[in-house]
Amino acid sequence: MNSFFKFDNRIIKAAKQAMSLCKEEIEKIEEIKEYNQNKMLYAFQKAQTSESHLLASTGYGYGDRGRDVLDEIYATVFDAEDALVRYNFVSGTHTLEVALFGVLRPGDKMLSVTGTPYDTIHPVIGINGEGDGNGNLKDFGVEYDEVPLTADETPDYEAIERAIDTSVKMVYIQRSRGYSTRPSLTCEEIAKIAGIAKRKAPAAIVMLDNCYGEFVEVNQPLSNGVDLMAGSLIKNPGGGIAPTGGYIAGRRNLVELCACRLTTPATGKEIGATLGHNRELFMGAYNAPIASCEALKTAVFAAALFEVLGYEVSPRYNEQRGDIIQVIKLKSPEALVAFCKGIQQGAPIDSFVVPEPWDMPGYNCKVIMAAGAFTLGSSIELSADAPLREPYACWMQGGINFPAGKTGVMLAAQSMLNEGIL
Ligand SMILES: *Cc1c(COP(=O)(O)O)cnc(C)c1O
Repeated sequence: MNSFFKFDNRIIKAAKQAMSLCKEEIEKIEEIKEYNQNKMLYAFQKAQTSESHLLASTGYGYGDRGRDVLDEIYATVFDAEDALVRYNFVSGTHTLEVALFGVLRPGDKMLSVTGTPYDTIHPVIGINGEGDGNGNLKDFGVEYDEVPLTADETPDYEAIERAIDTSVKMVYIQRSRGYSTRPSLTCEEIAKIAGIAKRKAPAAIVMLDNCYGEFVEVNQPLSNGVDLMAGSLIKNPGGGIAPTGGYIAGRRNLVELCACRLTTPATGKEIGATLGHNRELFMGAYNAPIASCEALKTAVFAAALFEVLGYEVSPRYNEQRGDIIQVIKLKSPEALVAFCKGIQQGAPIDSFVVPEPWDMPGYNCKVIMAAGAFTLGSSIELSADAPLREPYACWMQGGINFPAGKTGVMLAAQSMLNEGIL
């Protein structure tokens, strides 16, 4: 340890115990990290990435080789035929929206097979009338249906089998738990769903919301039956360096349709000035496998530490993970607030700021958020969010390097101890 941060002996002892509990898990993550980082290096070399690709284009951005080479790199690491990586995607939701509108047409049916999707996707689809009249998929005549999860919140393979027929144009899967308590999906589970889809509706597009799932495993969804996937660059695949943006990757014809939706039906991938952003996006990609695994290690450590301290966590430290999110059930609103204050104290930016619960639009209760990040809203950097309601669970994610991530998690425990909660 070090003397830069003050920890009670109880926290130091629990942290040591947690580290020995998750030793094997951390070794496994190191192997994933090494594999994916070398795959990334290989992808850079295969695309013959050169200094000139880091430069800026302006105007229409015709012939921006950096843009094309970056697409090629992501295609290689994701086992994709093609990819569309753009800072112009304003959020993960926007990226998913472009993918959905890119490939779906009026009269098509989209079937979500992992229950109701992430909240911000509801107004894109038109679930419960959200986004109606604003140009959601429903306004454009795209039908939607969903297959609920089982009682233990896992995919209901039998119900999925029954629900998919040739009337389904898109089978939609969400990998991450998002802000729910359900487990994330591993590539193996995604492959099982994709297998059912291919059997029951061979022409259907298997689409994956891959947010928070990138570089968590060696396996790639696109090598396991997924046709198209999308995610946010201020999560795993931006490596904590991309300042904004998103990616879409998958079958070439589908990625082209998405590019036509993002720009115009005639221009597709051919235009889009990169201004000065290529260098950051290349650096972010290059760092992404490491950053994602450091975040994964931070999550595993947090799971072990809070289990040692007597809390229910999900997933447990030794459970298989398909994303970087850690849920800790802290049992009381006071504990949530203390935890988030501690996470904030561990940040490189704004560590002196004290987060407070507030009435965030779209929630029926107060929400507290802790983040002190280089990029606003970046959740590959250590951050925690918690709605102040039952079961008083905190969703924690990120940590682009483990030493600081570990300290952040320990400061959260220390903050609870200081409040007399532990
Ligand atoms: C983060 C996330 C998104 C996209 O959210 P944005 O905040 O728009 O980037 C979509 N789905 C899941 C599961 C996510 O975790």
